[in-house]
Amino acid sequence: MPSAVLGIDLGTTNCVVAVVMQGRTILLANNQGQHLFPSAVTLGEGDTIWTGEEAVALGAAAPGRTAYAVKRLIGRYYNDSIVQKARNMYPYHILENSSGGGVTIQLGEKQYTPEEISSLLLKDLVSQAGERFGFEPKEAVITVPAYFNHAQREATQRAAQLANLNVLRLLNEPTAAALSLPTGDDNERVIAVYDFGGGTFDISLIRIQGSVYEVLATNGDTFLGGDDVDGLICDELSKIFEQSTGIKLRNFPLSWHRLRDAAEKAKMELSHSDRCAVYLPRLVGEESFATELSLKRLEDMTRPLIERSLKICSRTIEEAKLCLGDLDEVILVGGQTRMPLLRKMVEGFFERPAAAGVNPDTAVAEGAASEGAMLRDGKGALLLDVTPITLGINIVGNRLYPLIKRNTKIPVRKEHTFTTHRDAQTRAKMVILQGDNPVASENVRLGEVVLANLQGSERFQSRINVAFEIDSSGILHIKAIDEDTREEKEVVIRDSFEKEGKQAAGEVEEAESVAPTQDLLTPTISGPFRETELVDVLCFLHANQKTGRVEIKGTNQVGSLFMSDGEITNAEFSGLQGIEAFHNVLALSQGDYAFHEGLDASETAKIDTPFDILIGQS
Ligand code: AMP
Repeated sequence: MPSAVLGIDLGTTNCVVAVVMQGRTILLANNQGQHLFPSAVTLGEGDTIWTGEEAVALGAAAPGRTAYAVKRLIGRYYNDSIVQKARNMYPYHILENSSGGGVTIQLGEKQYTPEEISSLLLKDLVSQAGERFGFEPKEAVITVPAYFNHAQREATQRAAQLANLNVLRLLNEPTAAALSLPTGDDNERVIAVYDFGGGTFDISLIRIQGSVYEVLATNGDTFLGGDDVDGLICDELSKIFEQSTGIKLRNFPLSWHRLRDAAEKAKMELSHSDRCAVYLPRLVGEESFATELSLKRLEDMTRPLIERSLKICSRTIEEAKLCLGDLDEVILVGGQTRMPLLRKMVEGFFERPAAAGVNPDTAVAEGAASEGAMLRDGKGALLLDVTPITLGINIVGNRLYPLIKRNTKIPVRKEHTFTTHRDAQTRAKMVILQGDNPVASENVRLGEVVLANLQGSERFQSRINVAFEIDSSGILHIKAIDEDTREEKEVVIRDSFEKEGKQAAGEVEEAESVAPTQDLLTPTISGPFRETELVDVLCFLHANQKTGRVEIKGTNQVGSLFMSDGEITNAEFSGLQGIEAFHNVLALSQGDYAFHEGLDASETAKIDTPFDILIGQS
């Protein structure tokens, strides 16, 4: 039997495997005929490894020996907020690895990296596929969320290598879902793939013409999924239990595990009934738990999560410069889209019914298998992709300067010239960052590039050109040139997490930071902010397209920034104006802020309007 390429949907909650044989797509099924293989691994007696359904069953009795949802941890730093959140969510121990920075999962006495756990899942799937399909699988197309960053993709590749699988392509899940659709005629169509799975939410807008699949925009939330719905139900149920017994279920991992199972079952039942009974005999000691959950209550709890996903959809449509009328089809994937309320809200938002005939559980694996078969024949679909996350460097004031903004088509090359911000600054250290947070240290650090022989004796004299290039394989190349000495430094970010990823971005020594030469007066503004930072104030004003003057009071000094429609147009500090004033104002960033609204941006003096908005401490 000749070998074929496996299409593997390596999901947070479940995995699905498909293969195309003799032109037909076949799904891997277990002995009960089920296509979903739970993404769970248990370390059993005598260090035996159990995966899938067996791991889930054993996990009920051995929560500290069973790993779930490791996809949420893969390629992340220990101090990543998502890892910290996961620590409170799952019954197994998540630790910092001994070399620092990465994540280790403790199961019983043993420790595993998230990619090792994923590789155990993959090995089992490969072995089952081999038995079922009658060949020894060696190659696969594995899907990842579109929003996965560089490190998460690398870690997924490593997991496959550990399972002796050659990955022909890592395919974005929404693109895979699109590939599962029947190929139509050559007419261009734009589809929205709305994927609400167990752990992550993704939305992608894809233009299909013939065998060309062009991602127009993609977005997501790596902590929004069915697990969050289950979490809300658990909170609700545990409150009810505590009210009647005084027992906090959180303190009993085994009981919590049973509650989680019951919560998920209740949720699924409520996809086709309007109330459901929850009964857990002897949940803690002799205390049993019997209650009811209504569809109405579930819907009230879940609505905000769905609304969160729809906000992301709006933003994505806007970023692709499309409107709802431009979309030809909406496809729903991910198990949670079986919830009627979700379907109704999504269809309401997109103003059309979802495409029929798409199995939300298996579409991604089917698309991966179909791409695998095409690659095997040397005619894979032409996939034109975008970079899902902003890439940039840190600049003075612990800010992110984006060079390649998210949703930029790849391959792409972008460059910008930077300068020093202190007199006698001979070193420039550019930390390469991935993320959308305007505060540099809140983003993921991919590496750094240092130029150490700068000649300019005064600030703003040196010229440092930084170029970012993403090639068609998604590999990031960075080049920094000191334009005075022509000294050049190059960095290729290939395996960022292993080589560089020992820490989150952290603050770079301010003395070695650079400042952008042009656009100096337009700080990067997007993403979430911390309340009392100047940059956050500016973000707020930018987002609200304000015109007026921001007054920043330091201990003894006062500076001003002038904004027109949310953009900074000028700065003033002790008689200085422009760039120099701007730097001095940044140095006041710990001060109090006030915004005087309604001024013309050119009006730089004599301000006597009372404060309209007061942000930060006053
Ligand atoms: P996936 O990651 O695509 O496998 O999706 C798994 C998620 O879908 C889990 O949170 C499941 O609880 C959820 N799910 C599966 N079936 C249903 C259903 N019938 N109703 C609601 N949620 C479901």
